Amino acid sequence: MTQTTPTYQVIRGGLLLNVQERSVAPADILIKGDTVIEVGPPGLKAPEDAANVDASDRLIMPGLVNAHTHGHGSLGKGLGDRWSLELLLNASPWIGGGSGAEDIRTAALLNAAEMVLKGCTAAYDMYFEFPTPSIDGMTAAGAAYAEVGVRVVLAPMMADTPFYRAIPGLLDALPEPHRGHVEKIAAATHEEHLAACGAMLENWPFDRDQARPALGPTIPLHCSDDFIRGCRDLANDYQVGVQMHLAESKGQAVAGIKRYGKTLTAHLDELGLLGPRFTGAHCIWLDEDDLKRMRDAGATIAHNPGSNLRLGCGIAPARQILDLEIGLGVGTDGSVSSDNQNMFEAMRTAANVSHIVTPDPADWLGTWDVLELGTSGAAGVLGMSDHIGRIAPGFKADIVFLDLDNVTFVPLNDAANQIVNCEDSSAVDSVMIGGRMVLSGRKFTTLDYAGLRARAGALAQRFREVNSGTRVRMEAMAEFVSHHCTGLVCEHYHVQRRLDPSTGEV
Ligand SMILES: [Zn+2]
Repeated sequence: MTQTTPTYQVIRGGLLLNVQERSVAPADILIKGDTVIEVGPPGLKAPEDAANVDASDRLIMPGLVNAHTHGHGSLGKGLGDRWSLELLLNASPWIGGGSGAEDIRTAALLNAAEMVLKGCTAAYDMYFEFPTPSIDGMTAAGAAYAEVGVRVVLAPMMADTPFYRAIPGLLDALPEPHRGHVEKIAAATHEEHLAACGAMLENWPFDRDQARPALGPTIPLHCSDDFIRGCRDLANDYQVGVQMHLAESKGQAVAGIKRYGKTLTAHLDELGLLGPRFTGAHCIWLDEDDLKRMRDAGATIAHNPGSNLRLGCGIAPARQILDLEIGLGVGTDGSVSSDNQNMFEAMRTAANVSHIVTPDPADWLGTWDVLELGTSGAAGVLGMSDHIGRIAPGFKADIVFLDLDNVTFVPLNDAANQIVNCEDSSAVDSVMIGGRMVLSGRKFTTLDYAGLRARAGALAQRFREVNSGTRVRMEAMAEFVSHHCTGLVCEHYHVQRRLDPSTGEV
């Protein structure tokens, strides 16, 4: 199923959300190829042969940009209940273990499809492949996003230290036979990861406006210093991004002090990893010095408030981050932890959690703040803010058409406010990416959704069967993992990001 894009298109009759000007007004949009060339009042002049796109009764907004997700997580939605981050990591061997290139493709297709249905046109995806990333796996993920039409930065998620060795004291806290089981779990070496990534960066097969490569050393405690230095050098050599989960849980922050004698951010700074192409995902447990390190390095932050609540990790200091003028974008995180790819929900949650960390409403994140974080802010995290994230001349025509007939917008009081506070993605009618309608009237033009549903269902069933023994083993161990990691959470840390009287933090 392919669609040819006319040279010129003009979108007429819509109501345009302009995040930069903080306005909503009727406007027409002229597009040449994949790029917006002019935005103007209704009746905008257009070449005679321009195809007309009728946007009457539509609210037009820039495609949302997801600053942090995991493509492989799309098959794991709804699996966790009362999972902390550490319980999720304990469960990860059975959630989606055994993935090959075809499985990676199916999962990425599903993730991309959900994002389009929910108005998102670009994402930073830390996808996972075991035991190391491969050209086949990364090509499969990139091709899946290209097939749906979603732009992506693909960062293979990697570790050279297994979870049970990454958390100080955890291995010793596990009784037999659990300790014996996990002692056998081995991660690939940093040399193996770096060699695989080097080969991928050398042979990247995609147009970098559509899919670009990056590196994803997953968590500081899970990556040796040599590995982090290697990622730093490789990213510099190839001028690509690095995304890493940074101080996501209090347990990690406390463990960082035990392991390094300093904060996780200070550790990364000392290793030279922080820089303009570095993104810290979550960044909940950063203190003021850490935030200044991020600012001074020109690094960016991906804020995932839905996942942070779901896993009980805490609330990231978004207002402080913005006040320091650190680049900030909103993300959903993977569906194993959040459990959907709904950027409307992520923006709303970002606004709402900011209300309970400071008493003065003037410091809360408002409608326009979070709209910016979900569009141009997140585009900055992807390193694409010069060509996506806004509807303006010179920017790619990545445009979402919301149906004003949807009950979300009835009555239409304040369109921008209702996008943040009312919309649940049910008003998404059509989605254009690079001038191409990839979703039209809630139907994909690029994807066989029924076929994808069948493949995803079959794959999830296969994972359940193949990983059933691993699941039993991991679930038997969960209480010991949780007990040890909860102990870390109850230790003192010098910033407070949870509302937790039991640890003296309110
Ligand atoms: Zn993540």
